[in-house]
Amino acid sequence: MADLICRDCSSPISRQSKTGRCKPCSARFINASPELTAKRKAGIKRYHAQPGVRERCAANFAEYNRNMPPEHREQRRQHGLRIAREVLARPDVLARSNSPEAKRKAGAARTERLLGWCPPELRDRYRQLCASQRLSAAEARRIIEAEIPGTVEHGKRVVANHILQGQLRHERQQRDAY
Ligand SMILES: [Zn+2]
Repeated sequence: MADLICRDCSSPISRQSKTGRCKPCSARFINASPELTAKRKAGIKRYHAQPGVRERCAANFAEYNRNMPPEHREQRRQHGLRIAREVLARPDVLARSNSPEAKRKAGAARTERLLGWCPPELRDRYRQLCASQRLSAAEARRIIEAEIPGTVEHGKRVVANHILQGQLRHERQQRDAY
């Protein structure tokens, strides 16, 4: 039997090919089709929606980042520099990233990244604590978290309040005994 060939470029392909195309042609074919890319996107989304997948990906990524080989680190740095030079500096891209809409979106994303843990109604207080009271961000966060039910700090505060109440009651009883 004759070797199978890619239906787009006639290079030889393996018998296992389901699409009848070589790898690059298959990628080109899928990328050119809105339905196929939508299907692929939905598949990726479904995969990441499974419990634990996001956490596992984040942990793997963080682990790799900590131990990244120096060559790869340098390669990524160069890639970033090239993107900044060749893409981000393009006038059309600059115009888009400086639009009020884009800036608002970026600001909101930044707030969410930094303050996602903090309920919106406590954010101003957190900012005040950081700005005015010479606290580190971590200390300010612990103070705020003591106000958020369900956090460890809140639990500790509830317990501490309970113990303090017990002590005060005990002291009053001692006082009243005389
Ligand atoms: Zn091909």
